[in-house]
Amino acid sequence: MTLDVAWAVGWVRASAAAVLEHRDELVELDRQIGDGDHGENLKRGFTAVVAKLDALEEPPATIGDVLKLVATTLMSTVGGAAGPLYGTAYLRAAKAAAGPTLDSAGVVALLEAGLDGIVARGKATTGEKTMVDAWSPAAEAAAKAAADGAGPREVLRAAAEAAARGAGSTAPLVATKGRASYLGERSAGHLDPGARSSQLLLEAAAAAAEP
Ligand code: ADP
Ligand code: MG
Ligand code: MG
Repeated sequence: MTLDVAWAVGWVRASAAAVLEHRDELVELDRQIGDGDHGENLKRGFTAVVAKLDALEEPPATIGDVLKLVATTLMSTVGGAAGPLYGTAYLRAAKAAAGPTLDSAGVVALLEAGLDGIVARGKATTGEKTMVDAWSPAAEAAAKAAADGAGPREVLRAAAEAAARGAGSTAPLVATKGRASYLGERSAGHLDPGARSSQLLLEAAAAAAEP
């Protein structure tokens, strides 16, 4: 089994649906340790992505084309920290997934490229209470699942489960990057909004691969 362009389009639509559904929750999380705009930022971004997807005259030819559309749209519409971070993640992921299909190794490469983009842009490592705390265990779990012979759907499922655990693990952490770091020790006791949204996006990727 391989993932195709229809999966990538499904991932985008599932991401938009998840972001809309969780808009208020993400705003509330960002209100605790940031400026309260994360849910609205992502809602604006993914609404624009879906509008662009719907307006295409020709269906996208490759998975990379879909992810590149996501990247450029998020970069121009989301703003704040998350716009450039997710924009870079999807841009790198687009380059890693340039072809029409993805096997397990391809899924791992996509996730590792996304993580690399976030790290290149934001210079965070794990434990700093950022989206890296969701993406890093996700990429690791994906690589392990692929090495164990899992198919792309199982690889994505492993990544999503690890992202959920990773996002959950941010609650006790003290933020040392981004706006939440201004709070110092007072940032502890709250989930990181970007790690939570990363979890939602990776869960959407796995859901879109289900039959
Ligand atoms: P802003 O903080 O500009 O309002 P958002 O609220 O949209 O932007 O996004 C905040 C999220 O961005 C944080 O919860 C965190 O996960 C992520 N973030 C911030 N700085 C970094 C960084 N340097 N590296 C990785 N992620 C970061
Ligand atoms: Mg914010
Ligand atoms: Mg902001």
